[in-house]
Amino acid sequence: MSFLTFLLMLLISFSVCAKDVSAPKKAMVIGVTGQDGAYLTELLLEKGYEVHGVRRRASMFNTRRIDHIYQNRQVDNRRLVLHYGDVTDLATMMVLMREVQPDEVYNLAAEGHEMVSFKMPVYSCTVNAMGTLNILEAIRQSGRKDQIRFFQASSNHIFGSAPEIPQNEQTPMHPTSPYGTSKLFAHWITVNYRESYGMYACNGILFNHESPRRNSTFSTRKITHAIGRILRKEKHTLYLGNLDAMRDWGYAKDYVEAMWLTLQQEKPTDRIIASGESHTVREFTELAFREAGIEIEWHGTGEHEKGVDAKTGKVVVAIDTVYYRPNEINCALGDAAKAQKDLNWKPKTSFNDLVKIMVQSDLSGQNPR
Ligand code: NAP
Ligand code: GDP
Repeated sequence: MSFLTFLLMLLISFSVCAKDVSAPKKAMVIGVTGQDGAYLTELLLEKGYEVHGVRRRASMFNTRRIDHIYQNRQVDNRRLVLHYGDVTDLATMMVLMREVQPDEVYNLAAEGHEMVSFKMPVYSCTVNAMGTLNILEAIRQSGRKDQIRFFQASSNHIFGSAPEIPQNEQTPMHPTSPYGTSKLFAHWITVNYRESYGMYACNGILFNHESPRRNSTFSTRKITHAIGRILRKEKHTLYLGNLDAMRDWGYAKDYVEAMWLTLQQEKPTDRIIASGESHTVREFTELAFREAGIEIEWHGTGEHEKGVDAKTGKVVVAIDTVYYRPNEINCALGDAAKAQKDLNWKPKTSFNDLVKIMVQSDLSGQNPR
């Protein structure tokens, strides 16, 4: 080899390395149109990633949570690209994995409502369980399985009504709904692909996390959304189910940071992501009304219980048994010590601040359901 050829090869390999160093990391966010998908995409864009969001086709636009960061094809060097895809469709998952060639894949797609999963158990399990397997298989078959890091949005619902309080990574799993059971499959298949194929695949066992972007069929957002309407006199009474269930609620914006940190560690593993505090639905309701200037007094018991505006005597909260669940998690409380130690992560937003953020956002009347 002549000296000139050697020099040329050195230059070429240097330029290839330099390109690799400067090329942005590519993340695939599956479920980009959801609450977490939107916050995670914002975070990844801030960190300089090229984000490939996977959304499913709907007859109405389903991108309202990401419209403010959307970039169309004409934008030079755009860093947010949307693809159509459904996790139940293995063929498309495989094509996307080959075409996009991501460094990191976040699976946030789910039929995520526990109560709805009792009404649509087969579909919920198909999306949550088989959908996760489809993604893992698409990664395994992509020819880049050792280059891709995978995050699975696991859930505290895998524990069900756990005998242990708080729940940690060793707590026995005993889900109490089709949703929880499907998430349990997704959790273990992620572990299985890590152990069987050496893939970098991690579960974040996420406890409830909320925000103004939460769908208003979930208790917290249902409450804050209703308060906005009650104050604007568009509605009189908020109907709820079990007021005494306890949840470990955090702010979604804090939780997506834990997702990202999970994939930046040297070794893959599973971790609880939680606030470490548990509050009843009743407490959330009282605090949210107080934030809007209404003090609640409770009268009656069980399904006849009513929350009354102490000043006006009007009933602002009542029970509708339709919201009682066939099976219930009485107390969710997560121990996130492992995440705190490994990731140096803990939530920045307190329970009181979360309630405040959500109520203030819904008082404006501008925030869609
Ligand atoms: P979310 O707001 O309901 O978002 C779910 C996303 O999944 C949406 O983008 C939805 O699309 C998409 N999706 C649903 N079915 C799909 C399918 N078949 N193919 C492709 N995409 C599909 O949920 P989230 O609160 O952001 O939660 C994100 C993940 O964390 C979920 O896996 C959830 O189970 C898990 N998790 C959440 C919590 C929580 O408290 N938020 C707690 C534990 C675990 P559309 O916009 O078209 O509906
Ligand atoms: P989940 O923990 O993922 O099921 O989150 P949700 O916000 O849907 O439910 C949290 C708790 O609130 C559960 O124990 C429900 O039984 C209770 N809850 C009480 N009333 C309601 C209601 O009207 N809607 C919902 N979604 N939950 C309610």
